[in-house]
Amino acid sequence: MKPWSKGGEAQAKRRLDRLFSELILFRDHRLCQWCKRATDEDGKKLKVDNSHIIPREVLRLRWDERNSVAVCFRHHKSRGFWSWHSNPLLAAQWIRKLLGDTHCDELLRVAQEPYEFTFEEFLRIERLLKQRLLTLSSATLLASAIGELCPLPSSLLPQ
Ligand SMILES: [Zn+2]
Repeated sequence: MKPWSKGGEAQAKRRLDRLFSELILFRDHRLCQWCKRATDEDGKKLKVDNSHIIPREVLRLRWDERNSVAVCFRHHKSRGFWSWHSNPLLAAQWIRKLLGDTHCDELLRVAQEPYEFTFEEFLRIERLLKQRLLTLSSATLLASAIGELCPLPSSLLPQ
């Protein structure tokens, strides 16, 4: 295993963070998973971010899809009752309801496994994330192509 070059590890993390964030936002259709909205009351686009369930400092799960959800600023980082970061009691209740106890318990278990972020591991994760993004985006393209190619003719619709 080769040691990281100077600054290499930080650069690798930023690279994976960007890719990962794109993947989560794409997977969750850029909708806040808490309020299921993409726009506010005035129709203004909400700022939706990738949010880790187990903190991103736990590298074992930092780029693991099971450990992230898209959340809007209000439900992510604002201060007060409705915020993921400000209200841990509500946050835990919400995420357990959204993903189920089995999923959440598995995250807690995996987070404690020994883990080393090596260059080889960086390459493996990057490959995986790119592949996953490609699969998701081709599925979306395919779905929209099928929809466009085979629209229902109005003559087929019941009166
Ligand atoms: Zn929200």
